[in-house]
Amino acid sequence: MNKNFIAGEWLDGARISRNINPSDTRDLVGEYAQADAAQTRLAITAAEAAFPAWSLSTPQQRFDILDAVGTEILARRAELGDLLAREEGKTLPEAIGEVARAGNIFKFFAGEALRPGGEALPSVRPGVGVEITREALGVVGIITPWNFPIAIPAWKIAPALAYGNCVVFKPADLVPGSAWALAEILSRSGLPQGVFNLVMGRGSEVGATLLDDPRIAAVTFTGSVATGQKVAAACVARMAKFQLEMGGKNPMIVLDDADLGVAVNCAVQSGFFSTGQRCTASSRLIVTEGIHDRFVAAVIEKMKSLKVDDARKAGTDIGPVVDQSQLGQDQEYLGIAQAEGARLAFGGEAIERNAEGQPGFYLRPALITDTTPEMRINREEVFGPVVSVLRARDYEQALLLANDTPFGLAAGIATTSLKYATHFKRHSQAGMVMVNLPTAGVDYHVPFGGRKGSSYGPREQGRYAAEFYTVVKTSYTMA
Ligand code: NAD
Repeated sequence: MNKNFIAGEWLDGARISRNINPSDTRDLVGEYAQADAAQTRLAITAAEAAFPAWSLSTPQQRFDILDAVGTEILARRAELGDLLAREEGKTLPEAIGEVARAGNIFKFFAGEALRPGGEALPSVRPGVGVEITREALGVVGIITPWNFPIAIPAWKIAPALAYGNCVVFKPADLVPGSAWALAEILSRSGLPQGVFNLVMGRGSEVGATLLDDPRIAAVTFTGSVATGQKVAAACVARMAKFQLEMGGKNPMIVLDDADLGVAVNCAVQSGFFSTGQRCTASSRLIVTEGIHDRFVAAVIEKMKSLKVDDARKAGTDIGPVVDQSQLGQDQEYLGIAQAEGARLAFGGEAIERNAEGQPGFYLRPALITDTTPEMRINREEVFGPVVSVLRARDYEQALLLANDTPFGLAAGIATTSLKYATHFKRHSQAGMVMVNLPTAGVDYHVPFGGRKGSSYGPREQGRYAAEFYTVVKTSYTMA
């Protein structure tokens, strides 16, 4: 059984959770200890005790630890990728790519520990100097979702530690395996006892305890809008710093002048790969009149060739949906779309067993056409391999439709026109804009995040992560 890591020790939990392979539900990936509220508080106590020394640790010490963690993750990418694909259901190449990303993130923030920055300015008063420096916050509570079981923990844990914070990490209940493997690497990395703690368990118990404990200085959260709102309310109530990354309903515009091959590739890649379970997935394709029918036909042709199968099998394009409840949600939205008058143009069938007879949560990717902007399929996040198509008269209407959403994470455009590409980059109300590229798939060394209902607070990743994980101090000295 895989235990929680609290105050430098591996501890049994109050309960056990079973991690099931969505590609073959007979396969038990492992059993994981679930912490309760008391153990969560123990972890917070340990982190609080470790903070004074860790916050004053040298940049070299932090660099060495984070760099070594990154090196081990990269060296073990095939093994960790296999575990990730097995527990979450993204294909093996995607899972290995995610693990590599996690390793690179640790290496990036190892470097950031060496260059914290700061400013020295002359004062407006004679003889006085002003320094602006950044300091660690204290204990950071980290709450992550199931769809990126190692990369999202990495892009929160690495900067938190790099800037001198201590961590209490609560991974998603559904996929604790990759998070546990990451914690195991961190447990051997030379971090002083209590600096990093892993508490697996339920959101309503472990997560809620983190939110409410006054010793947690800041909470960084990625997950659904509904939980994000709870995180915000709890943090505001006790004036804790918080950061939220939540859902999306990301548009991709396809203009008449687009290269058809590029447009189809962008749509299929970011709509269906990783089973559509990415916050940056393109779930609304907004297509202008002149290319609409050709584009839809070409997307369907491509969808016919996608192999839906065991995530770890060579040749699989689309793995299973993560669990029964998410599969049910995907199917429910297919029903809602059709009831509201849209057309299921391709796919959408659940496949109970693959060719080898493995029972899994397989769903053939679905394309929904003839939709209108107010339909629920165009307003609410499905979080599965379900993509809708909206017809637009011209670029101007396509832009209005793209921005007509409560979300604002990512947005894309397929066009060969510099004029429209430039205009879209300026006028899209999304945090990340892609031209002739899939909306999903971003670099690890630049800011990540959205606007409107998708995100709250400073950006994650890249140098901009410092905004969340540090607090600024302004010091004045009379010489
Ligand atoms: P979720 O909100 O159900 O859970 C996220 C985390 O919050 C889990 O660890 C969960 O245990 C915890 N949690 C649940 N209830 C809690 C509570 N009351 N208090 C504290 N913690 C609690 O989300 P999910 O289903 O794991 O993930 C899917 C969602 O994540 C989608 O909406 C997706 O768009 C979003 N997501 C967003 C991004 C982004 O960067 N914007 C990235 C990945 C996923």
